[in-house]
Amino acid sequence: MTKELKVRYYKPKSEFKLDINDIQNFVYDMSKCVKCKGCTWVEHTYMPGAKYTTRCPSATKYLFDSYGAYGKMRIGHALAEGVLSWNEKALEIMYACTLCGACDVGCKRNLDLEIGLTLEALIVKAVKDGVGPMPAHREMTEKIVKSHNCYNADNKKRKDWVDKDAAPSEKADILYYVGCNASYVNKEIAKATAKIFKASNDNYMLMQDEWCCGNKIFSVGMIDEAKAIAERNISEVRKTGAKMLITSCAEGYRMWKVDYPKLLDISTEGLGFRVLHLMEYADQKIKDGSLKLKKPFDTRVAYHDSCSVSRLSDPWQPYEGKRGWMGCVEPRLNRRRGTEGLYSEPREILGSIPGLELVEMPRARENSFCCGAGRGTEEAFPEFSSWAADQRLEEVKDSGAETLVSACPWCKNNFSRAIDAQGEKVQVLDIAEVICAAIEG
Ligand code: SF4
Ligand code: SF4
Repeated sequence: MTKELKVRYYKPKSEFKLDINDIQNFVYDMSKCVKCKGCTWVEHTYMPGAKYTTRCPSATKYLFDSYGAYGKMRIGHALAEGVLSWNEKALEIMYACTLCGACDVGCKRNLDLEIGLTLEALIVKAVKDGVGPMPAHREMTEKIVKSHNCYNADNKKRKDWVDKDAAPSEKADILYYVGCNASYVNKEIAKATAKIFKASNDNYMLMQDEWCCGNKIFSVGMIDEAKAIAERNISEVRKTGAKMLITSCAEGYRMWKVDYPKLLDISTEGLGFRVLHLMEYADQKIKDGSLKLKKPFDTRVAYHDSCSVSRLSDPWQPYEGKRGWMGCVEPRLNRRRGTEGLYSEPREILGSIPGLELVEMPRARENSFCCGAGRGTEEAFPEFSSWAADQRLEEVKDSGAETLVSACPWCKNNFSRAIDAQGEKVQVLDIAEVICAAIEG
């Protein structure tokens, strides 16, 4: 008898891989959810009081357990084991989720279950089973695949935002990946980013023919289409010889840094170039003295931690291993816990601007409440999306802030819509605009 067989409760080790193509990789995670709801509540040690106690938008909005991660895990487990078939309600529950990652970091404080990857694998399964994505998603994704941008616009007009006084170079170490939103809608973010590069005495280049990062396609489970976009975009950037890709879009940042490597089964390091958000770049430039923020900006600011630059942005590392007794895995798995997100950079940048007063909202950092804009939510569930922004806006007002700052153009859109609808006076700015406003000259 082997030594292992003497161990009580010994079960043969099962092989698994962190691969969202196959839901069977996550049956263990779904089956071990104990319904403790640590994924829904703000961490107990930070609980801000009787108000703002939850961090799962889906469970908070729909007030029914099926919508929380624990419900989605139960439904997903039954689907994976073949004891439940997809139906309209199950599909709606699965997609009524902003994939914000709050449940993933919450669960990993307790049980080390891969809830975020499981949610992604479930919508990939929905597409593979021929029931997903939702009709509104299909319409949106067809347009993106055809036009290479989220607005079905002429992709040749992507660089129309460029100002002569901060124009790109033909060749540079920095490649600025602008993204669809700042290219077509919130152009002020792209203009501000270009000015920040120039003020830091750096040149930047743009992709010759920038395409959408594919975030919305990936986020609704269309993994084959997302992979094709990832391969094309990475190959184009490698051809430029850029040393670093910098983006001002949170969703784009997560795609390049985490989801492209995940789709291609490589590590973030394996991309061959660094991926930075503008905040990492600016923070470093302020600290080494090349970017000076001297012009006062007199306002009281609340900073919103966009999910994709915070708890969703730990780098990706492929993993394949075995799971044995009590769920122990070998080799060692360094789990992504949302602790490597950009939490200090925005706060240090904003804190360095004269006249600017930074106040914290009750739900901050890993406990932040998603604005509801991303991952296909605003297309298929517009009312849920607006509701989430309203919830966050309430928190901004309670914090006494006059200005709401985020690091994502999609958050800016959703908050601006909510403010207009409510007739509120809160100003919404992207952090690129705030940095730019504090540059003298
Ligand atoms: S924290 Fe994890 S185990 Fe607990 S209910 Fe949520 S998903 Fe299940
Ligand atoms: S990803 Fe966000 S919205 Fe979806 S179940 Fe988890 S916490 Fe809730």
